[in-house]
Amino acid sequence: MTAGLNRRNFLQLGATAGAAALFERWGFAQAAQAAAPADRAAQMRAAGASTPIKTTKLYDNLWLLQGAGGNMAVQTGKDGVILIDSSFSTAVPHIKEAIAALGPDAPHALINTHWHIDHVDGNEGMHAAGFTIVAHEKTKERMSKPAEMKLFHMSLPAYPAGALPTVTFADTMKHDHNGDTVERVHYEPAHTDTDIYIHFHNADVLHCGDIFFNKSYPFIDEGSGGSIGGTIDAAQKSLSLAGDKTKIIPGHGPLGDKTDLKAYIDMLSTVRDKVAALKKSGASEQEVIAKKPTADLDATWAHGGSPDMFLGIVYRTV
Ligand SMILES: [Zn+2]
Ligand SMILES: [Zn+2]
Repeated sequence: MTAGLNRRNFLQLGATAGAAALFERWGFAQAAQAAAPADRAAQMRAAGASTPIKTTKLYDNLWLLQGAGGNMAVQTGKDGVILIDSSFSTAVPHIKEAIAALGPDAPHALINTHWHIDHVDGNEGMHAAGFTIVAHEKTKERMSKPAEMKLFHMSLPAYPAGALPTVTFADTMKHDHNGDTVERVHYEPAHTDTDIYIHFHNADVLHCGDIFFNKSYPFIDEGSGGSIGGTIDAAQKSLSLAGDKTKIIPGHGPLGDKTDLKAYIDMLSTVRDKVAALKKSGASEQEVIAKKPTADLDATWAHGGSPDMFLGIVYRTV
């Protein structure tokens, strides 16, 4: 993978402080420390080992779990435990501990929101603990072969059989479980082409995965079919499902609600429109970045980091 570190990508990632800040915001704090690109997955896993899991109650039998990777959720009850996403492999002991603290219910299903390492790397460990892995069919497809994440200079081997989803679907899956209706729906390509949302109807909780980064600029995986327009469409679809009291779990960032999601869509749309206009006028990617079109948004969304990486993604996918 080190061989894949071409000059353009190196400049893109290294010459701006943005990458480090974004990594941190996305819960990859350890990975933000610059080291050999090949070590990034190892650094993320180190963060998974050292970061405790914070549990927040959302409903009678539904909790938000937050650690080093993407935000997780747990539903408990006599029908068995449902877990959404599995963080890094090294976080598995912490996840098991957090679930055990919620009660004695048996493992049932682990649902992956999409294929990224910070959401599926714990799959093998949770599967070994008794969870059946459920995901969109493309999540299984992408996890089944080696992958590259060029923006992070990461090269990932195919996941072992025990980590792969064994129950997959193309569009939707819905069933009653632990007194709630649990609906899983595939988004059109957005953050990736594997994204789904999970909607707990009675609890009024919506897990959006990484189509929603609450209170920060997002990472969008253009190498997996992601785009700024698709992300906006998916966020709008999610917003249409939400009521005033709906708790909305983002892939990263704090628990959100309709107001947060609306603000996120407004930010994405503003940046998309500005970058699209500049691109149409003939500006190159570096020229767009140099114009700092997000200057007035950065205080709210960049959290001290540079928005350059986000602008590059928008430019390339608009
Ligand atoms: Zn993520
Ligand atoms: Zn992701």
